[in-house]
Amino acid sequence: MAEPSNTSPPPATMSWADQADEETNPSSSSTAETPTLNVDELAIDEDKKSSAKFLDDPDDSNIQAVTSGDTPYTSAATFEELSLSAELLKGLYVEMKFQKPSKIQAVSLPMILNPPNRDLIAQAHNGSGKTTCFVLGMLSRVDPTLQAPQALCICPTRELAIQNIEVLRKMGKYTGISSECAVPMDRRDSIPISKRSPIMAQIVIGTPGTIKNLMTYKKLGVTRLKILVFDEADQMLAEDGFKDDSLRIMKEIEKFNSNCQVLLFSATFNDVVKNFVTRIVEKKEHNKLFVKKEELSLDAVKQYKVRVPDELAKIEVIKSYIFEIGENVGQTIIFVRTRNSAKMLHKALVELGYEVTSIQGALEHDERDKIVKEFKDGLTQVLISTDVLARGFDQQQVNLVINYDLPLKYAAEYIRGREPEPDCEVYLHRVGRAGRFGRKGAVFNLICDERDEKLMSKIEKHFGTHVTEVRERSVEDYKAALKEAGLLI
Ligand code: ADP
Ligand code: MG
Repeated sequence: MAEPSNTSPPPATMSWADQADEETNPSSSSTAETPTLNVDELAIDEDKKSSAKFLDDPDDSNIQAVTSGDTPYTSAATFEELSLSAELLKGLYVEMKFQKPSKIQAVSLPMILNPPNRDLIAQAHNGSGKTTCFVLGMLSRVDPTLQAPQALCICPTRELAIQNIEVLRKMGKYTGISSECAVPMDRRDSIPISKRSPIMAQIVIGTPGTIKNLMTYKKLGVTRLKILVFDEADQMLAEDGFKDDSLRIMKEIEKFNSNCQVLLFSATFNDVVKNFVTRIVEKKEHNKLFVKKEELSLDAVKQYKVRVPDELAKIEVIKSYIFEIGENVGQTIIFVRTRNSAKMLHKALVELGYEVTSIQGALEHDERDKIVKEFKDGLTQVLISTDVLARGFDQQQVNLVINYDLPLKYAAEYIRGREPEPDCEVYLHRVGRAGRFGRKGAVFNLICDERDEKLMSKIEKHFGTHVTEVRERSVEDYKAALKEAGLLI
């Protein structure tokens, strides 16, 4: 008998993604492991990156600012206007190769950097350059002569924490400012937190579980903190996200240090989170930057749907049409809903002779880091991912996103007979993995049954957009789609 877990599609009413995984939270680790990670080993090989294709100005035209008090802020047309240090300007021009600030940078940086350094809630499109806002904020506010944690940034996944610290180290290369990445490590590489030395680094970026443990064990002092950043802040403060950890961390910092500036960044803030977040910072005078909901769905990335009869047909569409016709358009991320779905699709594509890799939360941390590095270095072209990479992951060469499974809210409840609801925020973030900083991109949503139809139309309704259909076996349709997206000539 063959192994029971072969790649044949599951019974008609069940997709691979419906065979639920046990654990949902990919990044938090409750074990007290020591968080020392050599991020340098993960550095990206720039030479392998191709130069920017398909570049437009990122669209952040309609950010609305609500400022508090009578501090006048003018947005900055150049980085020089921000009174950044010479070392930071060198980092921006020489290392990052940036020429001028994007809209969100121009608007938010004066608010972040200028006294009285108010708290800030900032929403801006995916790929519009939010990382630079808070990285410059952290680097500018650190006193280089003081060897103690002065800036802390908390991110929902280890991949995002690593990516952010890489940006920070590159941008801050000439500043001499020290940093540490606080993320869960594989057990075999770690010594207990209680036995590690206290953190001396001036900037710490990490995931909530590890940061909370470091604080509990008094290894991360907060008395000198000047700035606390939450990247993907809506997820960090959502009930079904990291709300408890984030609030505990905030309270602990407030206890010792009521002047710490808090920055909350995300592309999405739904109404519940928006109200909650506003209440958090409301105690002090603060600034807000928001984008209207209907302006959030990115025009730069074209959205398509392909109706298919079953899961096998999804694989056929990916193989014979999307891969075939989109062969030279750049890198691709295929999003699936569960670890099981990731494993099965990976196996199926490998059996068909494709070189793909897949990442999901159950892998060893080393393995996750390796897969991300290979993809960032351009050694792999196709990456299958659960929503562990749905947010924040920045790889400019990604021009195609495939939603093999649509993002679903309340997956477990649905199985018990609940009306399916799409996770529109996750959808927006997945789409945002393509079209970084105004680049072109396309998203193909694979629609297989009644449930998918409902989810897709709810997504369309939510964003007030029509997602164009591409016929399953029409080479012409795929070509036209990629042309319209600006990816084929
Ligand atoms: P966000 O967090 O808003 O989704 P990122 O901060 O990850 O976006 O930035 C998206 C991409 O844009 C990154 O690859 C980054 O290097 C690039 N980028 C950011 N700011 C600038 C700029 N001022 N000029 C050129 N490229 C930029
Ligand atoms: Mg980001």
